[in-house]
Amino acid sequence: MPYRKVLGLLLIAWMLLLVGACATPQPPIPPPAADAPGAPAPSPSPQPAPTPSPEPAVAPLPEAKTLAVHFIDVGQGDAILLLVQPGATVLIDGGPRAAGQTVVNYLTERGVKELDLVIATHPHADHIGGLIDVLEAFKVKRVIDSGQPHTTKTFDDYLTAVERQVEAGHCVYETPEGQIVQLASNVTLKVLGPDRNLSSLNDNSVVARVDFGKTSFLFTGDAEKEAEERLLARGVDLKADVLKVGHHGSSTSTSAAFLAAVAPAYAVICVGAGNSYGHPTEQTLSRLAAAGARIYRTDVSGHVVFTSDGTTLTTAAAAWAAPAPQPPASQGMFVGSKKSDKYHWPTCRHAKTIRPENEIWFESAEAARKAGYTPCGVCRPPTK
Ligand SMILES: [Zn+2]
Ligand SMILES: [Zn+2]
Repeated sequence: MPYRKVLGLLLIAWMLLLVGACATPQPPIPPPAADAPGAPAPSPSPQPAPTPSPEPAVAPLPEAKTLAVHFIDVGQGDAILLLVQPGATVLIDGGPRAAGQTVVNYLTERGVKELDLVIATHPHADHIGGLIDVLEAFKVKRVIDSGQPHTTKTFDDYLTAVERQVEAGHCVYETPEGQIVQLASNVTLKVLGPDRNLSSLNDNSVVARVDFGKTSFLFTGDAEKEAEERLLARGVDLKADVLKVGHHGSSTSTSAAFLAAVAPAYAVICVGAGNSYGHPTEQTLSRLAAAGARIYRTDVSGHVVFTSDGTTLTTAAAAWAAPAPQPPASQGMFVGSKKSDKYHWPTCRHAKTIRPENEIWFESAEAARKAGYTPCGVCRPPTK
């Protein structure tokens, strides 16, 4: 083919291509779809950022009208039932194993069918023992415990009971860090501690506060001084109307600094009558009294129930009053000793050395003489 002809054909082909390209209508550029992957970022708009909603269609939480907190009398141990109406049902600890059925019955009598949350503050038997029966009797939707293991049969049985609930598929088993549980739209349970591992099972107790309107409760398990100091050092909001006194009123809990931060109007001690630990101690009782808290004790009053409407707290339980100091045993005019035969004016220096258990009192000099006593030569009481 001659060179010119080839060039002419190429030129024609090129022109045809050019004309074709110009004549082909271009598809319109689609507007960028905001939700299309890889789409350019839309220009800033005043719309709020989308809130993440991973849960599909959860029914909104009801608004609570009342919150009743039952400090159940389980002897030496803790078992605290929270009834939010309407709203969630929570049990904090279950008392000792021997009280398990008592707790189950208590819950049943109050219409509890299932528990939304069980908190096992720490693995000691006076807190988790009764939970074994509870976990067998009720469907439990959530268990929070301290995450601390313990080498006892009671702990093994508790763990087995929790695992059974988890295996049944309706229960989640969680550790306490950062847990915030809405018990109703206006009732919040917040885990305050522990935020790290402390040196004892007691100090690793789950500490939680519950707020409903203007009223608040603080639950401390068996937390002692180290846990209290940690909470104070972290600047956690501890202020609460009702304090569940730590560790059954032991002197190793409820320090003056902790009490100053909580400033409770009411203090509840869960404790067994005649327990062998000497709980509650005089020191704790006087610290609570000095802080101006009204004291309630399950060993004295039985079950102690506080009800809140979000503004006001009420209880039908009788507050514990420190026994009035006994008046000095002055039963007479003159005093003698069982160890001697002299009688004295009570102000006599010899009278003051008589031990209280040896004192013997006389209404009159005559009575002293009749009992075979003679007047002291120092204070010279009358002879008749
Ligand atoms: Zn305890
Ligand atoms: Zn304990």
